[in-house]
Order: sequence, then C-alpha cells, then structure tokens
Amino acid sequence: TLADPPPELSTLLEWADGVRRLGVRVNADTAAEVNTAVALGAEGVGLCRTEHQFLGDRLPLIRRVILAADPDARTEALLALEHAQHEDFRALLSAVGDRPVTVRLLDAPLHEFLPPPGEAGDAATEQRADALREANPMLGLRGVRLALLHERLYPAQAEALFAAWVDVAATGVRPELEVMIPLVSLPEELAAAAAYVRGAAEAVAARTGVTVPYRLGTMIETPRAALMAAELAEHAEFFSFGTNDLTQLTYGFSRDDVERQVLASYLDRGFLTASPFARLDPHGVGALVALAAERARLVRPDIKLGVCGEHGGDPESIALCDELGLDYVSCSAHRVPVARMAAAHSALREPERRSESETVS
Ligand code: PEP
Ligand code: MG
Repeated sequence: TLADPPPELSTLLEWADGVRRLGVRVNADTAAEVNTAVALGAEGVGLCRTEHQFLGDRLPLIRRVILAADPDARTEALLALEHAQHEDFRALLSAVGDRPVTVRLLDAPLHEFLPPPGEAGDAATEQRADALREANPMLGLRGVRLALLHERLYPAQAEALFAAWVDVAATGVRPELEVMIPLVSLPEELAAAAAYVRGAAEAVAARTGVTVPYRLGTMIETPRAALMAAELAEHAEFFSFGTNDLTQLTYGFSRDDVERQVLASYLDRGFLTASPFARLDPHGVGALVALAAERARLVRPDIKLGVCGEHGGDPESIALCDELGLDYVSCSAHRVPVARMAAAHSALREPERRSESETVS
C-alpha cells in the first residue's frame, strides 16, 4: 500500500527529494491525516480547512452563533466552539511537530450551516435564517466576508489556535504556524481580519505570558485578489493560491457541477484539452498566479508562495508552479509521492528551460 511503500519506491522518492526545489505539503484537517501524509513524505501542512471543525455534532453550536437572538446564548455557543477547536488544534499541532502548518480560518458557504427551511425553530429564528439564504452561496457570505459580519468568529478561532500552540510548545514542539484568511478580494478585508488575529495573539500572550510566533497570510482565490497582489502583500507574509475557487471564478464554471453540464460538453467537443479544474491553464489561472507572484514580490521580495488547490497534486500543474518559482505545492495525502516525483522531474528540466528561454530572448 501507499502507506507502506516497497523499499525501491522509498529509495526513488528520497532521490527525488534530493533533486527537487519545490516543497511538497499536504492538505489535512486532522492529526490522523497529518500522520499519514508525513509518512508519505509531506514536509508540512499547506492547508487545514477549519470549517470541518464546525460540522457534525457542532452544527447546532454554529447555528446558535449565527441565528440566536439572545446574546448570552450566542456567547455560550461561541465559547463551546472555541473550547472544542482548542482540543482539535492541540491534536493537529502535536502531529505536525516542528513542521510548517497553514491553518485557514473559517471558510464555509453559509448554506452548510443553516438549518433546512422550516427547521430553524421559532418564527423569528426562521425569519433570520431565511434572510441569510442565498441563491449562490459559493458567491455569498463565505470566508472572510462571514467573519467580518460575525466579528467574534475569527478571534475565537485564532485564540483557540494560539492557546493550542502554547500547550504544544510546553511539550517541546514548536510548529511553524501560519494563519490564513480565505476568500479575500479587498486589501481592507485582509487588514481587518489581520487585526482580529493580532488581537487574539495579544489576548493569549496576556493570559499565558507566551508570545506565539506566527505568520499571517491570505488565500489568493478570486481574480481581484490576484490583481491586487501588491496591495495584499502589504498585509501578508505568504500567499496560498486557492486554484479551485480561482478556476471557478476565472472561467465562470461551477466547481460543484464540474463533472456535468457545460464543462463536460466542452471537454467532449474538444474545445478544451483538459479540465481547467484538473490542470493549471498557463493562459488562465496559471497566468493569474504568475501575475500575482510578480506583483507581490515587488512589494515583498521574500513573500512565501504556494498552491493549495487540487492542482497541487497534478504533475503538469506542479511543473508550472516550479517554473513560476513558487515555494511549495500542497495536495491530498495520497498524491504527495506523485508530487515529490513531479517536482523532481521539473527540476531536472530546468537547464533545458533556461536554454530555451535564452534562445528566445
Ligand atoms: C481552493 O479554492 O482552491 C481551496 C483550496 O479552497 P477550498 O477548496 O476549500 O475552497
Ligand atoms: Mg477556496
């Protein structure tokens, strides 16, 4: 199995690690996923999607935070969520060890949290829920937008995360923490969210006496964010390209209907050679990544850049990320070995690329 590779494969992958420049991280939300990925050679976590901590048993809590009229009920639910996340983060960070870990603050389309119509409770709550229902939740109150309207969400998450780091650091482990803000398109959104995170770090420092080291960064997953890369880089120490949403928003193809409808017909007809969700298109999302990287580096030459959309596990897309000089790709655990090989393959082609570009210029 992949988790227990034959010795020949391990030797090959170790060789690949010696050749490649591009880092390989994993998209993982739990300690178990991190352990699997580390065994497969992941160097850290490039994306922890914290919205998964709000689902299942915890749905009633987040519903109360969003829908309760009584402020005390909202506060109580929020504290319970913070407590639960503190436990989750402690387990995650212990598994990560001294490696880098990018924790993305809440990014769920609101319809994942709202009760089905008619099941919200009393008439007033039902009305508040109805007011939040959207025709296009993927283009609505997601990510940083929800956090700016529910101002206690990100501080609660960030405090749980920093407190967990303090706990884990007491055991001698120091994860390299990166806190990431999703679905940003305005520098003002990032500045406001960054202030929440700073406030949470200060609150934890006041409570524990420990100043948690962390980097703050943003997803680049709207075309406007890519275009505003220079302005965003003023507030961000790293960017992670969310190429799933960036593809959806660049082409206008729905990522949830990708196997069906328009895109499938286009692929059948041969209008597109590959699904833009599967392969970074150098003239589409790839060009936006290149543009954003260039603009961001003008402001912050050492900005750290990665890709955490599904493309991070596709060999041709990985080669493009390498050519663009990104620092790492992040992909699902089972694709980590392929990503290590693809990054090495791309590095071996570098001299060829250089001589090609010299011939052209
Ligand atoms: C993305 O949009 O590429 C991304 C990684 O975020 P998510 O898939 O969680 O929207
Ligand atoms: Mg996204």
